[in-house]
Amino acid sequence: MTRTREIPVVQAILSANEQVAEENRRTLARHQVFAVNVMASPGAGKTSLILATARHLPANVRLGVVEGDVASRIDAETIAAAGIPVVQVNTGGACHLDAPMIRSALTHLPLETVDLLFVENVGNLICPAEFALGTHLNVVVASVPEGHDKPYKYPGVFTRSHAVVLNKADMIDVFAFDLDAFRRGVAMVNPHAPVFVLSCKTDMGVPEWVRWLLAQKEAVHPSTTP
Ligand code: MG
Ligand code: ZN
Repeated sequence: MTRTREIPVVQAILSANEQVAEENRRTLARHQVFAVNVMASPGAGKTSLILATARHLPANVRLGVVEGDVASRIDAETIAAAGIPVVQVNTGGACHLDAPMIRSALTHLPLETVDLLFVENVGNLICPAEFALGTHLNVVVASVPEGHDKPYKYPGVFTRSHAVVLNKADMIDVFAFDLDAFRRGVAMVNPHAPVFVLSCKTDMGVPEWVRWLLAQKEAVHPSTTP
């Protein structure tokens, strides 16, 4: 008797962050927005991936961006210059975004005219994966100059991601990057995650990534117009 009472109580307790993430999920659902949490170390190319994706999106998929940074508006200005609605979140020193930050950011975006929302997390491969934001997908971006050992050294973020992007693939030969070792590392911690080997600079591999991303979006929020 006591045991059957205790279990539901434990299940009902969500962390404060998880409660707000759930609220964000409802806000996004109400506006039919599909949201992607983009995580990477600094300089791997999160902003570049967002811009490369924007270049390959069909016109009926409208983009919005939340830019997370410890300080500055540099990336947000780059996104705004591309004509994409963007909100900058400065974490004031915190090394990750959390659900309350996203809740505030969402109030500043024209959600009724956004179909696909990128949340660019703070550049850091450790704690961003620990905080639910209410987004539909987690994506981790690694890049060739960082080396092929990232999935081995930072398994947490790779385990919690739905897809892995390897950016700067045009540099694979220059850096003697071991693509097989990288793929093995990903497969070890997250065997179901697709790996997109691409270059935001040359656009190589970007169409394949965008096709996959749109399929994920369509599964949650089908487009109403062709
Ligand atoms: Mg950036
Ligand atoms: Zn952190």
